Amino acid sequence: MMRFTERVAIVTGAGSGIGRATALRLAREGARVVLADWSEEGLLETAAQMPPEATHIERKLDVSDEDAVKTLVSEVKEQFGQIDILVNNAGISGGSYPPVTENEKADWEKILGVNLIGAMLMIKYVAPHMQERQQGAVVNTASVAGIRSGAGGNPYSASKAGVINLTQTAACDLGGFNIRVNAICPGLVETGMTKAVFDYARANEKEHKLGARCELRRYGKPEELAAAICFLASDDASYITGQALPVDGGNTASLNMPGMK
Ligand code: NAD
Ligand code: ADP
Repeated sequence: MMRFTERVAIVTGAGSGIGRATALRLAREGARVVLADWSEEGLLETAAQMPPEATHIERKLDVSDEDAVKTLVSEVKEQFGQIDILVNNAGISGGSYPPVTENEKADWEKILGVNLIGAMLMIKYVAPHMQERQQGAVVNTASVAGIRSGAGGNPYSASKAGVINLTQTAACDLGGFNIRVNAICPGLVETGMTKAVFDYARANEKEHKLGARCELRRYGKPEELAAAICFLASDDASYITGQALPVDGGNTASLNMPGMK
């Protein structure tokens, strides 16, 4: 498939995990890709894996820095003349949190600043260029943690619930300009973010448990999330907007009640 020939895509969090897999898939299908991440090391590694024939640029960016977002978007417009696809994927989890009675305000501000406000800022500056051409697709990476939470999930879960709601708001604001805005909600995927979880499980003979909460009985691969992001970014999804698609091996389909398995 070559669904993105000549299209220009910005992928945030492209220096690792799901963002890297998405950038590679977009490029393999013909897109010109802007790799954005705050990790220069990650950007270099992704760039080294890009198909040789692909046009791409790397840009160090903190999505929570409004001036930096504004500058990056205007540089991309200057260089490529158009922006067709925005993948708002940069995110931080900060590990697991103590109970709400022990939460720090600074943690909430940091997590919400990147995961939620960062996504809003990217849309704020990219969407006007899409509006000019009356076309565009935005895909946000939310999480199953934005659909349900759990003990110790606090600011991360709240940020991802916010991303799902932002997806609906932006879809409503931008639908009249033929701009679609959707989200994916990944379940557990092996990436940089979940390295500690996987390392711990492997070191403690608990690897079999990592996919145990998913109906497919396994955790996900970054490429499986990239496939869903690319679907939503493509014309195959031309009548889908404002939706948050779980890509979670069936995790959210189940009540996970004791005795039901
Ligand atoms: P990852 O840590 O491998 O990749 C995240 C990337 O985002 C990193 O390269 C990091 O440098 C970058 N980043 C973080 N903050 C940034 C900022 N302020 N500005 C620019 N770049 C920044 O993790 P991943 O799992 O690939 O994460 C991608 C997205 O998937 C995140 O939004 C995450 O919340 C979401 N997600 C992951 C899982 C999972 O199990 N891995 C589950 C649900 C949702
Ligand atoms: P443990 O006995 O080590 O807690 P679990 O199966 O409950 O084993 O989970 C292992 C780790 O994987 C935990 O840190 C848990 O939070 C995480 N985990 C399990 N399923 C998911 C999922 N669907 N999404 C995100 N993290 C998950």
